[in-house]
Amino acid sequence: MKTGQINVQTENIFPIIKKFLYSDHEIFLRELVSNAVDASQKLKFLSSNGEFKGELGELKVEVILDKKEGTLTIRDNGIGMTEDEIDKYINQIAFSGAEEFVKQYEGKEGAEQIIGHFGLGFYSAFMVAEKVQIKTLSRHEGSKAVQWESNGDPEYTIEEIEKETRGTDIVLFISDESKEFLEKARVQGVLDKYCKFLPQPVFFGMRTVYEDDESGEKDENGKVKRVSLEVPNQVNNVAPAWTKAPADLTIEDYQGFYRELYPATMEDPLFHIHLNVDYPFNLTGILYFPKISENVEVQKNKINLYSNQVFITDNVEEIVPEFLTLLHGVIDSPDIPLNVSRSYLQSDGNVKKISSHITKKVADKLAQMFKKDRDDFESKWEDLKIFVQYGTLSDDKFAEKSDKFTLLKNTKGEHATIEEYKEKIAALQTNKDAKIVMLYTNDPQEQFGFVKKANDRGYDVLHLDGPLAPHWIAKLEQSNDNIMFVRVDSDTLDKLIQKDEEIPSKLSKEDEDKLKPLFEEVVNKEKYSVQFESMNSEDAPVIITQPEFIRRMMEQQKMGGGGFMGAFPDMRNMVVNANHEKVGDILNTKTKKSQERKIKQLTDIALLSQGLLKGEELNEFIERSIELI
Ligand code: ADP
Repeated sequence: MKTGQINVQTENIFPIIKKFLYSDHEIFLRELVSNAVDASQKLKFLSSNGEFKGELGELKVEVILDKKEGTLTIRDNGIGMTEDEIDKYINQIAFSGAEEFVKQYEGKEGAEQIIGHFGLGFYSAFMVAEKVQIKTLSRHEGSKAVQWESNGDPEYTIEEIEKETRGTDIVLFISDESKEFLEKARVQGVLDKYCKFLPQPVFFGMRTVYEDDESGEKDENGKVKRVSLEVPNQVNNVAPAWTKAPADLTIEDYQGFYRELYPATMEDPLFHIHLNVDYPFNLTGILYFPKISENVEVQKNKINLYSNQVFITDNVEEIVPEFLTLLHGVIDSPDIPLNVSRSYLQSDGNVKKISSHITKKVADKLAQMFKKDRDDFESKWEDLKIFVQYGTLSDDKFAEKSDKFTLLKNTKGEHATIEEYKEKIAALQTNKDAKIVMLYTNDPQEQFGFVKKANDRGYDVLHLDGPLAPHWIAKLEQSNDNIMFVRVDSDTLDKLIQKDEEIPSKLSKEDEDKLKPLFEEVVNKEKYSVQFESMNSEDAPVIITQPEFIRRMMEQQKMGGGGFMGAFPDMRNMVVNANHEKVGDILNTKTKKSQERKIKQLTDIALLSQGLLKGEELNEFIERSIELI
């Protein structure tokens, strides 16, 4: 037996390793299992190029829990190591400035990735083990098996041992603070998280499967009897869908893989995009479009980032543009630098390229779907809407492309692109300033009267709802200078789409001056400003509108933008139709009392039709109406 010093430039590296990944000790298992997988793959490679001439056998990695001994072993039958190799690869962890580097990132976000990247992967074992043994037999014919052992002093011993089988056992004597890693469920959980798609079979324990009895014996129902069997429990799928060629996969394969990724999700994704890039960087992956719910936040952080099939993180916000974090799926790239802090990631040239590539792919896919099967695209629009709006708002590159497949839906359920829609409504809905006025409602039920009046005039009304609609409308107005959006209840139709010709008023200026104070006495002046307009005589006698500007301000404030101090006043207009017969009537009404009653009745009806008449006022209205009958 020999003893020696692990050649680190500082003796203090172990304490640092032990504590610096405090929150994420579990990754030791990822590091050791992926080392074991690497060892198998290296051997496969050596065999394929003729350097290794022996039997490969069934290459596999086993994770073995021995609670009684207090050990967790990671076993492979890969290349193994000679004593010299141990010295070279394990003892000489003499990378420059190790301590400085580790200290710099200590406790920082992303630190957990450094370990693997700087050849410290194996030493992460000391985060959870008080003693570590390497028992290994090299692939070289006639080599002697050796055992390396250390408790992280940094002293180690190395000695020859008996070991018949090729490959390496890493035996961890789990420390008292890390007893959780002697629990089967905990280990299984970590394997599920990090090792689910490693490229070589990884086994952990046994599991029960049920099979038809070989004897073919039948039960009382005439069915072949089932027997239970204990089989090795493979934790990974070595060939996940994203590593295959799209031509080799069916829709069912993609959906199956989606369920493999998110076993708890019941719903199928809407569609997917298979990413496959090898220049100027390597990237594969599958992104899925989920059915996006109103609660956008819960959708996020579902994309998993892998590096050569090793799970890295599900926080990809720096790698893909924020709006794409609504998608689900997998991105696998060995080119994404994992060894750096997150803030650095954002400025990394490769990451920027990856990000814009993915954005482009997603936009192209949507454009292609739109072109290929428009009906299908329209049927999915309700689910795509938030995503497309979010992308248009947050990513200029996406916005440049999204006009082509962004749909507007009117209250009749008809879809049109922005260009098509402009063309469709231009003739009737262009105002005197040559702007095309897009009327919309966010709630066709509540604004039914307004929508109907607009339709009666031949105007089209869009149905725009959803949490992003207000911002998105503003963005479209910015990028298309000849359109404007106005909610159908924000003014009278004549004002919303102002034409050159004006409707003559039946009331003189004097008449209005007489009527206005009468109305103002009846309504709440703080909330409603009374105005007279010459509208069509068939229009309602009184309508209540809320200027588009005020409403947008209030909406922005509600969403936490706008920058106003205090609440924005909820002002509305009470617009009196000067040409309505009932309005003219008031002037001919004898007593002040019955004038008031008529006005009250007219304004209450207007309030009622907007759902603004409540409580005591509603009750008064009902009683007055009954009296009037
Ligand atoms: P990295 O894997 O990043 O190179 P590690 O500290 O995890 O750094 O491992 C150092 C080296 O030790 C590996 O590059 C490999 O040569 C060797 N090694 C580790 N584990 C095994 C194993 N199970 N079988 C063979 N060699 C191994």
